[in-house]
Amino acid sequence: MRGKYEIMINSTLKMLSGDLAAGKVSAEELAKQYLQRIDALNPQLNAFISLDHERTLAEARAADARRARGEAGVLTGVPLVHKDIFCQQGWKTSCGSRMLDNFVSPYDATVVERCAKAGLVTLGRANMDEFAMGSSNENSWYGAVKNPWDLTAIPGGSSGGSAAAVAARLAPVATATDTGGSIRQPASHCGVTGIKPTYGVVSRFGMVAFASSLDQGGPIAQTAEDCALMLNVMAGFDARDSTSLERAGEDYTRDLDQSLEGLRIGLPREYFAEGLSADVARVIDDAVAEFRKLGAEIVEISLPNTELSIPAYYVIAPAEASSNLSRFDGVRYGHRASEYRDLADMYEKSRAEGFGSEVKRRIMVGTYVLSHGYYDAYYLKAQKIRRLVSNDFQDAFRECDVILGPVAPTAAFNIGEKSGDQVQMYLSDIYTLSVNLAGLPGMSVPAGFDGQGRPVGLQIIGNYFAEAKMLNVAHRFQQVTDWHTRAPALSSD
Ligand code: GLN
Repeated sequence: MRGKYEIMINSTLKMLSGDLAAGKVSAEELAKQYLQRIDALNPQLNAFISLDHERTLAEARAADARRARGEAGVLTGVPLVHKDIFCQQGWKTSCGSRMLDNFVSPYDATVVERCAKAGLVTLGRANMDEFAMGSSNENSWYGAVKNPWDLTAIPGGSSGGSAAAVAARLAPVATATDTGGSIRQPASHCGVTGIKPTYGVVSRFGMVAFASSLDQGGPIAQTAEDCALMLNVMAGFDARDSTSLERAGEDYTRDLDQSLEGLRIGLPREYFAEGLSADVARVIDDAVAEFRKLGAEIVEISLPNTELSIPAYYVIAPAEASSNLSRFDGVRYGHRASEYRDLADMYEKSRAEGFGSEVKRRIMVGTYVLSHGYYDAYYLKAQKIRRLVSNDFQDAFRECDVILGPVAPTAAFNIGEKSGDQVQMYLSDIYTLSVNLAGLPGMSVPAGFDGQGRPVGLQIIGNYFAEAKMLNVAHRFQQVTDWHTRAPALSSD
């Protein structure tokens, strides 16, 4: 008989995988303990949109049966949370919107399918900004998510539920998506690790579309090593996504322990200019000092069009969103107004009721910039800026191997602080948007705290397909620092 197993606050994917393999715990026991923790702590955080204990436990028992048959993989039986943007059969897939509050997905997204195939157990569905539009997770139809480090602070958006769940240790790992920073920002604000891969590496099939040329899925976990393990599951070619890249499979853990001796780290001049808070600047400086000690060489680089990425993104993303969201018409699925005069009235009322104000704003901006007469002035211009932003990065990568910088100008701000001022909100995306415009991989790694005790992340940007290198950089940093092991103190009463 084994003694009672208790999940430890910092149980990583890697540790849980080892304990499951050694028979120290079953998937079912593990799921039960996490569910208990979720039931006790989630009411303060609002990190979940849906929980279904029976479904979770059934998945866990199936994982145990699989292990008993000798068919377990590395992550079989490990619990995870899916962002509510990934279609999952039998689960409500709301995307944080009233529009999809009644939508139970009839099929699995490729990411969900791959996780299920690996034997990961779904604990629940994470809260998020409506249709992934937001930087603070205040735009969800299901209410704002709270930052586990300070319940008066935002967790970052749009994958706020995913990041808060991992930070509060309600799950060892979560899936997330990043269109303009939504993996990196919440990871930074919640003190956890997240990676947005190169565009096309993770399938978008079954991932509710926001801005198709920018959206990319990725994991949020405590450590870079765990992100590598998850990326091994999530990444890979998918014939059902026309933008999925047909490349040989990779083992993202392969370079974790490589030395950083001689690594050239680029620091973009424009990232350390006006607008960056002193607290964040200090944290990044300290992190850079660690990398010097690890043998890296620091070079100053320039990304001259950084500032233009904000207007360009906030034209391109709404343009694509306005087109993608036209499918929600109240006819085939999703919200339909209960009373209407005729078909046009039904469309109008259903959309007026189903979408929240930020989503409506984006649809209006998007239709405007795509309309005849404005297309050249806005949309086409934004596409040209997008090219310049990509070129900046390619110039920079001639001088360095990876780029380091802040994820956001400040640590998490207070709930409500920027919700009345969209421009201020959009400005907080200054360091993340350009990475999506260029389709590059980007990562956030816990690197310290601001004066109020709120976490600050370090951003690592790599060239196309440099995920393994970035994970190596992050992993070496995590071997000499302990920021990623800090967990917020939450009371269950
Ligand atoms: N904050 C950005 C926006 O509101 C990015 C969101 C995202 O990455 N999904 O569009």
